[in-house]
Amino acid sequence: MQKEANAIVETLKSKGLRVTPQRFAVYANLLSRTDHPTVEQLLTDLNKDFPVSSQATIYSSLQALREVGLVREVLLQEGVSRYDANVQPHHHFCCHQCGAIEDIAWETFRCVELKNLRPGLRGETYEVTVQGLCNTCGEVTGEY
Ligand SMILES: [Zn+2]
Ligand SMILES: [Zn+2]
Repeated sequence: MQKEANAIVETLKSKGLRVTPQRFAVYANLLSRTDHPTVEQLLTDLNKDFPVSSQATIYSSLQALREVGLVREVLLQEGVSRYDANVQPHHHFCCHQCGAIEDIAWETFRCVELKNLRPGLRGETYEVTVQGLCNTCGEVTGEY
């Protein structure tokens, strides 16, 4: 655990970020989860250990982490920003029942051909969002 903490400090430093307790806590929290939390969820979670965090400090930490490319914003529902410490290319699965989001490995889909875009458009990147039911929600409805 101590080693992990050092690694996080080193990562922040390597990006030229001043290491503050808030940035550290936000980044460590995001690295430890894969559920793409909202700011509110981060705040609730962080305040269990750090009763000093406010939404504004979490926002500014997220902003700093985003600027150096350690964290990305994931917008899958209108008006809801979620955050992800997985900044490698990947896709998302989104459960339309409970809103759960999970990562899908990049290699899962290989058939999007950016070169099939109409002439004049130069595609650079894309990402697939699969909507559906997660295990939990699928089981509930599967009983009928
Ligand atoms: Zn679900
Ligand atoms: Zn993700």
